[in-house]
Amino acid sequence: MKISYSPYVLRPLSTPNAVTALKEREGALLQIGWPDGRLGYADLHPWPELGDAPLDEQLTGLRNGKISAQAEQSIWLAHRDADLRQQKKSIFDSALKLKNNFVVTNCAEVDIEQLESLRSKGFTCLKIKVGRNLQVESEFINQAAARDFLLRLDFNGVGRWQIFERFMSRLEQMAFSRIEYVEDPFPFDDGAWAEARQLVPIALDNQFSRVVWKTFKRKPFDVLVIKPAKIDVERAIELCKTYSLKATVTSYMDHPVGVMHALGVAMALKKNHGKMMLEPGCLTHLLYESDLFSKEIVFIGPSILKVPGTGVGFDALLEGLKWHPIKLT
Ligand code: MG
Repeated sequence: MKISYSPYVLRPLSTPNAVTALKEREGALLQIGWPDGRLGYADLHPWPELGDAPLDEQLTGLRNGKISAQAEQSIWLAHRDADLRQQKKSIFDSALKLKNNFVVTNCAEVDIEQLESLRSKGFTCLKIKVGRNLQVESEFINQAAARDFLLRLDFNGVGRWQIFERFMSRLEQMAFSRIEYVEDPFPFDDGAWAEARQLVPIALDNQFSRVVWKTFKRKPFDVLVIKPAKIDVERAIELCKTYSLKATVTSYMDHPVGVMHALGVAMALKKNHGKMMLEPGCLTHLLYESDLFSKEIVFIGPSILKVPGTGVGFDALLEGLKWHPIKLT
């Protein structure tokens, strides 16, 4: 297996979540060649603020054969891409049109006019990052609920039970009834999450690695957020079946190559697991300044319709990048 990488930066338009400052985000695209001639691409976009090993460390790991779990997912995704490219197929060949939630990273930056414009473009579900300013956020959520959005709130595992509970008590009854789930309300604790679940459906995302699955006394969550960039998708689906969870596939707020990989997985899982799969959250390229890659993404409202090319697309752009070989020792 031959691995090369091409570094990139993404420029966020707004602060991404409660634990991340507004600054350029670094990542690397990987180009992986297999001995039989297949060639595939994937993204490697660590969020060190959320516990990922930094990019340099992960690239060094690839060089030394110490492959991080995240890089392992990138290799798995590149392999899917390579298969499609070899067959001259695209992730869009299934023609399955999925709606995506719209991500609000900072409520203070979205006004009512924008909310209404989103609604008229066909968005019906908002994923809202919370935990920065609970007053502003609870007002925003009440406004969004009044416009009939379905709501996903994400605390990113920071904060405490008391903050979560106080926040929930601030929401109007209508807002409460529009909440599809609350993601990572505070650091994972099966008892406390089972308690939180009495108030509102709970989703597990970035606290995944803290969960010891076999020891639950009560079910601590209802939904598993599957980020193909981070977790083993087949294992995740098995867990959903075993514990009767719903699942939603989201991108990792990463490069458009990562976004399309997540969408490809979302489409495949929707086809195979139908009802278990909730609306995905792969429309995250809008969170960054547009670039040559994101400009190739054809979307209308909440649906991504096409990226030209084979596999996850971007054929000419990927070929044109400067690739640095990683020597495998
Ligand atoms: Mg999350």
